[in-house]
Formats: sequence, C-alpha cells, structure tokens
Amino acid sequence: MTPPDDAPRFNSAAARDIEYALHPYTNHKAFRETGPLIIDHGEGVRVFDDAGRSYIESVAGLWCASLGFANQRLADAAYAQMKKLPFYHAFGGRSHDPLIDLSEMLIQRAPLSAGDRPFSKVFFANSGSEANDSAIKMIWFYNNAIGRPAKKKIIGRIRGYHGITVASGSATGQPVNHKMFDLPIAGFHHVSCPHHYGYGLPGESEEDFATRMAQELEDLILREGPDTVAAFFAEPIQGAGGVILPPATYFEKVQAVLKRHDVLLVADEVICGFGRTGRYWGSQTFEMRPDILTCAKQLSSAFLPISAVMISEQLYQGIAQGSDAAGTWGHGFTYSGHPVPAAVAIETLKIYDELDLPNLVATRGAYLQKAMRARFADHPLVGEVRGTGMIGAIELVADKTTRAKFDATRKLGARWQALGQEHGVMMRVMLGEIAAVSPPLVISESEIDEMLDGMHRALEALGAEI
Ligand code: PMP
Repeated sequence: MTPPDDAPRFNSAAARDIEYALHPYTNHKAFRETGPLIIDHGEGVRVFDDAGRSYIESVAGLWCASLGFANQRLADAAYAQMKKLPFYHAFGGRSHDPLIDLSEMLIQRAPLSAGDRPFSKVFFANSGSEANDSAIKMIWFYNNAIGRPAKKKIIGRIRGYHGITVASGSATGQPVNHKMFDLPIAGFHHVSCPHHYGYGLPGESEEDFATRMAQELEDLILREGPDTVAAFFAEPIQGAGGVILPPATYFEKVQAVLKRHDVLLVADEVICGFGRTGRYWGSQTFEMRPDILTCAKQLSSAFLPISAVMISEQLYQGIAQGSDAAGTWGHGFTYSGHPVPAAVAIETLKIYDELDLPNLVATRGAYLQKAMRARFADHPLVGEVRGTGMIGAIELVADKTTRAKFDATRKLGARWQALGQEHGVMMRVMLGEIAAVSPPLVISESEIDEMLDGMHRALEALGAEI
C-alpha cells in the first residue's frame, strides 16, 4: 500500500532527530533527506529498529558489543554499583574497589610489554580517543621528566585510526579526519599503510614488502632526527582503515627499527583487545612488545564507556619522577576509573574468563574465516577476503586481475550496506568498498552463516544492479 501524497515522510521521533541531533560521522545535508535509522532494542547478536525489523550486527555496533546487545549480569553489575557508590574520583590518591580490582585484573591479563616484562600500571579514561591522547601526553611528560625535551614527535600510519580528539586525531592517518579540521598538528608524521594486497609491488613478497615498510619508517626517523622522535602508534590490525593485517615479519622488523632509535611503541588495542584477533590481545597475535597499550570498546562490552592505558615499568618510573618534580602529574579525567563502568568492565572480564575467551575466539574465529572465504573469495566482485580470529573484511574490486577499484562516485559500498540492511544484516562498508566483519564474539556458528548469507545475498543484488 503506498502512503498518501500528504503523509509525513518521517515519524515523530525521526523528525525530532533531524530537528535537534547533530550525528557523529554524518553528511548533515544528505541526512536531512534520508533521516535516521532508529534502533529500539537489542537481543543477542541482533538489534531491532523502531518498526520491529531485526538485524544481525556484523560489526558489533562499532567493533565493541562483544557480548551482544543484552546481558543481565552486566546490567546487574551497573545497578549494584550505582546503589553502593555511584561516583567517586581518583584524583590525588582517592580510590575505590572497582578501580583497584579492574587495575589488577587488567595487569594480570595483559600481554608482555617491552623487554618481555609485565605491564606495570593502568590509567583509565572514557574513550579510545582519550586513552590515546593520554598515551601521547604520558610520552611527552616522560621524555621531559627524563631530560629529553626534544624527543616528542609521534609517528602514525596512513589509514591508521586512533581517535578524533586533537592529538589522537593527529596520530590517525585518515584524510577525512584531517581535512577541514586543521589536523594533524605539528610534530605528527605518518608512514605508509602496510597493506600488501593494496600496495605491494608486482611480485613483491610479504616479507620484502615488510622490509620496505620498516625501511620507510627508519628513513623517516633518521630524516627527522632520532633525538626528536618519541613514539610510533600502531593498531595490531588497522580496523577502521579497512581491516589491514600486517604482512609477515612486519612488526618484527618495525620493532627492530624502533629499538635502534629508542622510539616507544604504542599498541592501540581499542579494536584488537579482548579476543578480536583470535588471541586475548592483538599484541600476542603479532608478537608486539609495546611500551604502552591502549584499550577500550570490548573492555566493557560497550555497555558503558571506559578505556584504559597500560604502561611499562620504565614509563611509570619516568612519570613518577616527573610528577615529583612538577608537584603532581597534571593529567586525569573527572571520570577516570568511574566506579560504574569499572564494575561493568570487571564483570565483562569475568565473563571472558568463564567463556575461556582465547579458546572461544580461536575456534569460532577459524569457523568465521573459513565461512567468509567459502562464500566470497571466488565472487567476481571480490578482490580480497582477509582477516584472522573474529575480525575480517571483504574488499570489492572492479577488476579481479588488475585489482582496480570502482569509481568512488558510484558509491557501491554504501549501496551494498543498504542492501545488507534489507537482507537483515547491519553492515559497515568503509573506505569505498570494504565490508568489515567483526560480529559480537559470542556469535554462534549458525548465526555466522546467517550473517554471511545475508551479506552474500546483498552482494548478489548489488551485482544484478550494476
Ligand atoms: N583507536 C582505534 C583503533 C579505534 O578503532 C577507535 C574507534 N573506532 C579509537 C581509537 C577511538 O575510540 P573512540 O571512538 O572511543 O574515541
């Protein structure tokens, strides 16, 4: 039945959304025409819109809802903590049990840091951006404290994503986050994206490509002067940049360069942390030994905002020394270690332990990777299917042999995403035509099949359209 001509285009909630809300990452002009998709509730790996339509979330929201979209234990943990102590801060040495317990649990579960040593201390923030901004300020403070005030430059990577605040947004290597924002600020540099499929030379092996990438990093450090370069930021797998897995030997070679020039390594585990890559940490999957590790998202299964920065003993010693010289370490958020999200994070980590997270993501991840490749690898529109553990991507190409991309103005990725929605899958198609696959970690094998079948039917529909 077609609606009458004078029927309002949007229901009341949608009209009010258009009227009052400024959405993140949105083309605000186009949005006035399309209006919002209003999500009403969640259940397991699915969310439901306000018309009752159900969607499997193929990216766990924004790579974060690891335990899905309903969990009584997490709700109870938040409620119990709210009743006991709804807020207290941690400035000047004040503390509370959720902050203490969560700090201990994170250090106990952390991967090895630089020099094969355990991480030493945890600092809390509210988002991935804040965690990375905090890491940058820790590094600057540390180098001031130990008497190397010139060693401050930060190196990120093209297509890397570390957040959108001024410093983390500068470390991010995506044009859309820089253009018209006057970013990056001075002192931030970027090296190439290590995507072998996308940027490897004809006939170049992964190992040779990794050597070239590490050489580019070393050349940059030498050009800038090693005494001025403080740290290198890297996601174990670049997530928002298109799910880019490091080529074989990449982090081994990169870490050798960093060590030679005394440049710190920050592992941004905001997406990779807590099982995404098939091990507990991406740093374990790719044998990274970071000086600093940032995490967020799956730390609380996204039920409440919380992020963390773990630092090595070496960093801690420098910061402790500097705080004494300065009178205090003048950094921290009102909500650093807020008891309610901390209580939810504690319960989340307990659930991960009970699920035997590394085992779960290794076996379920193996199923996901196989199922993705079985459906998509030979598809005429698909260039590369990649991933490991519970993270992957399907990248479309106009020509499978030359790997030529589609003309961006055709917006085929956005169309695939819209068709996915029609087939009951909430998709995230990034940077043109790369569909991320990063469902809740608790997705079952039959739900993986259902999700991939929906994405496949949507791709067939797209193929028929073009
Ligand atoms: N780092 C990485 C690797 C991320 O993927 C993100 C967000 N997608 C961030 C940092 C920023 O996190 P937030 O949006 O919570 O600030």
